[in-house]
Amino acid sequence: MSPHHPTPAGDPAVVGPHDPEHDPRASYALEPEYVAALTDRLVATSGQTAGVRSPLNDAPLAHVPQSTMADVTEAFGRARRAQVAWARIPVEERQRALLRLHDLVLDRQDEIIDLIQWETGKARKHAFDEPLHVALTARYYGRTAHRHLAGERKLGVVPGLTRVEVNRVPKGVVGIISPWNYPFDLALIDGIAALVAGNAVVAKPDAQTMLSALLGAELLEEAGIPGDLWQVVAGPGAEIGGAIVERADYVCFTGSTSTGRSIARACAERLIGCSLELGGKNPLLVLRDADVEKAAEGAIRASFSNSGQLCVSMERIFVADQVYDRFVERFVARAQALTLGSTLAWGNDMGPLISQAQLDTVTAHVEDAVAKGARVLTGGNARPDLGPYFFEPTVLEGVSPEMACFGQETFGPVVSLYRFHDEADAVARANSGEYGLNASVFSEDRARARLIARHLRCGTVNVNEAFAATFASLDAPMGGMRESGLGRRQGAEGVLRYTETQSVATQRLVRFGPQLGMSDETYAKVMNANLRLMKRLGRA
Ligand code: NAD
Repeated sequence: MSPHHPTPAGDPAVVGPHDPEHDPRASYALEPEYVAALTDRLVATSGQTAGVRSPLNDAPLAHVPQSTMADVTEAFGRARRAQVAWARIPVEERQRALLRLHDLVLDRQDEIIDLIQWETGKARKHAFDEPLHVALTARYYGRTAHRHLAGERKLGVVPGLTRVEVNRVPKGVVGIISPWNYPFDLALIDGIAALVAGNAVVAKPDAQTMLSALLGAELLEEAGIPGDLWQVVAGPGAEIGGAIVERADYVCFTGSTSTGRSIARACAERLIGCSLELGGKNPLLVLRDADVEKAAEGAIRASFSNSGQLCVSMERIFVADQVYDRFVERFVARAQALTLGSTLAWGNDMGPLISQAQLDTVTAHVEDAVAKGARVLTGGNARPDLGPYFFEPTVLEGVSPEMACFGQETFGPVVSLYRFHDEADAVARANSGEYGLNASVFSEDRARARLIARHLRCGTVNVNEAFAATFASLDAPMGGMRESGLGRRQGAEGVLRYTETQSVATQRLVRFGPQLGMSDETYAKVMNANLRLMKRLGRA
């Protein structure tokens, strides 16, 4: 079914805070039948709905049914029942469903990208990254999960007589709580790994971007994942998200550090595990031997992809004295050349921010910095003439510790430039603050850049690239150090987090205790002699 309404979307008459239910001028951007087919997947019986508008043009998009606590309980009940059968299916069969998902996502990518754009406002080229990353993840686990999840033989205590295997047992039902910035991608990639490990999922996507996440659920079912295995609920974060944390066997959360901290506390109380993918204030280093043009191009992608609303975005750029002026000239020129627009077409470099709240934060950070003496090299302004939440790509110089944007995550198109003389000092400044998610180093001496990377306290470091090199290298773990997170997605760690290890030891011939009528004392002596012998033989 096509998502689009036959009447042109974005009727300027609907701009403004109207209640679409009672607004005769309202023109819905999406076909109501299309929206209903998606929202029908929700477990939501409250009778309440939440209205969602598009940041592209402020037109109403959907009324999303809201879940109750009882709905969350029902979702977990269905998921638990489905999980029992799913866990018995061979992992290779579960992998085949992921490979079918890979193809479906590529086949239906235009529809996926349109929907992401309507919900988030992002430029088409950045919306494209979402199905791309989901397909990569589906293919990666579709091809490798059996290796990660295979049981392992371990050393037994009595050589040849104690056989030990370690199994990987699914946790059960995994709660996935995801944000709005990459709504299709982040609703799916962590859950795919949970599914292939034999778990069920109850997902709570962000309220602004439920439809993209629900389209993901539809594609999973088409790919052959049993319907009840992937439940979706909707509602306020603290309430419905909290209900998920209270019922899940494991929680995977992506979002802000403050919410992540409260989820970690709740999980600790229940003695369940969680992985947390949180915020960042990511540094990019341009070393004295960097290719300045390449660094400026990379820094643009690093700072302004998805209008800076990206956890791995760069908000601090440290540039070596020797290349500072040339880099700034190239970087600012490129920032000024970016095209801003709110259409579904290819060609725009940046769309609007997602909401008034995001615009308020970005504006406040820039105003605060300017009031305290920072210089705006380009940008610095909201652009209501282009659409409701546009903000120009903004480059600041002279940012100092008393300014909010020095250490706090802006999560918008605002980046600060800092000059350095000494690389050790640049590394120390890059490592300052509480975050440690992603970093980037530009240098023509790649070996030296990799050496510097080892000193950066970030979970991922990209050499001569912004973030995509690590984010798309699915075989390597991705996640944050310090207040940027706990645990890792991607690679073996990304799937093993959803399992418990179970050790099975099979004993034959000798048993653990006195044998053949020997006394306890004789048994102790025999065991001591054995221990000494084993050490002499070099056994672990
Ligand atoms: P947020 O923490 O406000 O919300 C994220 C999700 O958590 C939403 O679904 C929300 O409804 C839910 N939620 C809110 N309060 C909750 C609670 N008390 N209990 C349970 N769930 C709750 O974050 P946000 O502002 O929407 O997202 C932006 C943040 O996410 C940024 O800080 C960004 O850096 C971070 N992020 C991190 C990654 C990563 O991989 N590290 C990726 C994307 C975004």
